[in-house]
Amino acid sequence: MNLTRRNVLGCALAGGCTLALPSIVQAQAGAAHVMVVGGGFGGATAARYLRRHAPQVRVTLVEPAQRFVTCPFSNLYLAGLRSWDSLGHGYDGLRAAGVNVVHARAEDVDAASRTLRLSGGQVLSWDRLVLSPGVDMRWNALEGYDEAASQRAPHAWKAGAQTRLLHRQLQAMPDGGSFVMVIPDNPFRCPPGPYERAAMVAHYFKQHKPRSKIVLLDAKDNFSKKALFLQGWKAAYGDMIEWAGLSDDGQVTRVDAAALEVETAFGTRHKASVLNVIPPQKAGFIAERAGVTDASGWVPVQAESFESRQVAGIFVLGDATIAAPMPKSGFAANTQGKAAAAAIAADLLGSERPVASYANTCYSLIAPDYGISVAGVYRTQGGQLIEVPGSGGVSPLEGTATFRAAEARYGEAWYAAISADIWGA
Ligand SMILES: Cc1cc2nc3c(=O)[nH]c(=O)nc-3n(C[C@H](O)[C@H](O)[C@H](O)COP(=O)(O)OP(=O)(O)OC[C@H]3O[C@@H](n4cnc5c(N)ncnc54)[C@H](O)[C@@H]3O)c2cc1C
Repeated sequence: MNLTRRNVLGCALAGGCTLALPSIVQAQAGAAHVMVVGGGFGGATAARYLRRHAPQVRVTLVEPAQRFVTCPFSNLYLAGLRSWDSLGHGYDGLRAAGVNVVHARAEDVDAASRTLRLSGGQVLSWDRLVLSPGVDMRWNALEGYDEAASQRAPHAWKAGAQTRLLHRQLQAMPDGGSFVMVIPDNPFRCPPGPYERAAMVAHYFKQHKPRSKIVLLDAKDNFSKKALFLQGWKAAYGDMIEWAGLSDDGQVTRVDAAALEVETAFGTRHKASVLNVIPPQKAGFIAERAGVTDASGWVPVQAESFESRQVAGIFVLGDATIAAPMPKSGFAANTQGKAAAAAIAADLLGSERPVASYANTCYSLIAPDYGISVAGVYRTQGGQLIEVPGSGGVSPLEGTATFRAAEARYGEAWYAAISADIWGA
């Protein structure tokens, strides 16, 4: 094979070919070890695609969970439209692809000696390190909201025990109660996620607790697909959902989890029956340990490869990164994982890095037959990520019922396809 930039990129996007190389380069690559921290959307993608591009390279994935539970579709679980089991994905598919999966937590990174320390105490060496640890909550950034408070007023912004807690609370809430959600300013994981959650909780209330209210208290005035959400909420749920942005005294500054009460910047108090606080976030702690975060708490990366701007040889993906205009989404993390895998494979195989291209689509469900979406394609220009002009957009405001129903089905197909692409099922 002639290794031009174009055909390497073709391999990267299709994910289906191995690069033919002189045996001396293959022998060097064969000795190489890539460690990937985090078996979610970004990390599991990078591990799988590295094995495809460079089967000679040893790939170890470090992830504490035996089964990864996706945030995507966790709002549908709250609505009663998805089972809990359908959100979980094991790692046998990655093992079958030749990835060595270690169920442990990465505790520390030494970039100078290129080693990683695991929770069991083992210290492993790497030639390239990929970090895709997702987000951590900034406890106490919102007065009164710490980890203990999240046991009473769950964030449910990492899928798992928190999601199940919120589900139980919604089930136990009496009809006529109020569900209050606190929404942070940008940047945060999944820009349309809170607004889809409001719709999914409304769907559940409409079936089981129709006298209940939903109050959204938002630290900003604009949000992803705003006009479409406002239109869809009204059409599907009438006045059940009330949204207040920054200019309407929506910014919460204090949380009293014990009393299930919040206070806004102007001193208005809201009492909840169920309180869902989504706090400000930052990159998962291992990124800070690796020295790749900046003062913002997020990770600056090179747009072409998602290699850290601060530490060579460490690639960071997904929610942990500063990748605007790309959103912090699972789809974005997946395409970043593919680009990083192609760049790492090229480095280790001694070829030129391919030209990167990224994409995103975020589907949101408003009701079982009512879906909306936002999409974009991204490339690099002068070392920065840009959205390709004319590449994306949002669903039309004047979409018909048939169009909305089709988008709901596309969302389901997206979930099945990306799960198979990453975990194999
Ligand atoms: C309610 C909700 C709905 C969403 N819906 C959508 C959607 O419809 N479409 C979409 O594209 N995105 C959606 N998202 C966003 C999506 O979940 C994230 O953008 C995506 O998970 C980011 O991928 P990631 O690889 O950065 O992190 P994650 O997928 O969270 O993976 C991080 C992994 O790293 C592991 N980890 C962390 N630290 C360590 C460590 N020290 N050692 C070992 N492992 C570690 C964690 O256990 C975790 O498995 C949604 C998010 C939410 C909250």
